[in-house]
Amino acid sequence: MKYRFFSDCHMHSDCSRDAEDPAMMMCEAAERQGLYAITLTDHCECDVYEKEDYNRSVRQSYFEAKKASAVFQGKLRVYAGVELGQPLHNLDATQDVFSTCDFDFVLGSLHNLRGMEDFYYLDYNEQDVDALLARYFDEILEMVRWNGFDSLAHLTYPYRYIVGEKGIPAPLYPEFGDRIDEILSLLARNHKALELNTSGLRQKLGQTLPPLEVLRRFRQLGGTYVTIGSDAHRWGDIGAGVETGLSMLLQAGFDRFTIYVGREPVLLPIE
Ligand SMILES: [Zn+2]
Ligand SMILES: [Zn+2]
Repeated sequence: MKYRFFSDCHMHSDCSRDAEDPAMMMCEAAERQGLYAITLTDHCECDVYEKEDYNRSVRQSYFEAKKASAVFQGKLRVYAGVELGQPLHNLDATQDVFSTCDFDFVLGSLHNLRGMEDFYYLDYNEQDVDALLARYFDEILEMVRWNGFDSLAHLTYPYRYIVGEKGIPAPLYPEFGDRIDEILSLLARNHKALELNTSGLRQKLGQTLPPLEVLRRFRQLGGTYVTIGSDAHRWGDIGAGVETGLSMLLQAGFDRFTIYVGREPVLLPIE
């Protein structure tokens, strides 16, 4: 392995409905690869918190991460995280999660706009794509203003489906440059992290979420903290694209990346 502190801070175990491998299996795979640290970040979709049983699964995921952390002590650092989806759509759920589980790391995530389905399910022939993206960046900004997370997950998520899966061209710069700048500056001012999500590299999109130009801009606007995650939904994808992600960070002017322990950033050198 090329990098000494190679870590993966975004992955899903069978405590997420779209993943199948138990946390222990994920940890074993990470240990075999010689990773420095991993953070388990199962889904908690706040807008359907009770309806879809996340109030139970989020506690189970926290328990599994704590258990794995004890089992792998001395072999692999395992941290308990959560991918908090749409936290502002149901603040009672968000509050419940924070009051029950003492997470190391909270990813702030937006999979769907208010009153809409996940971008994965939308029929883009029936949508005004530009208007949809404007709403997306506005809701992201709202979440960044709320400021209750540690790292902003997979900024540009809709592009995975619009551009990657459907092949519909969609603008990023210059159209949404002002909105993106506002998001990135506020993250930097709030001392929050931007996530570099490498899942897009192994999907049709063929690039990280967000792409390099956004990462560069975050640096220019004073950003310090970047977390990297494969967004693995099976053990075979753990660490996938992280090496590419780390070299992208260097290209964007960062010499360290960040992991979170007890909700505090820990900067690790890229070497
Ligand atoms: Zn996600
Ligand atoms: Zn995820």
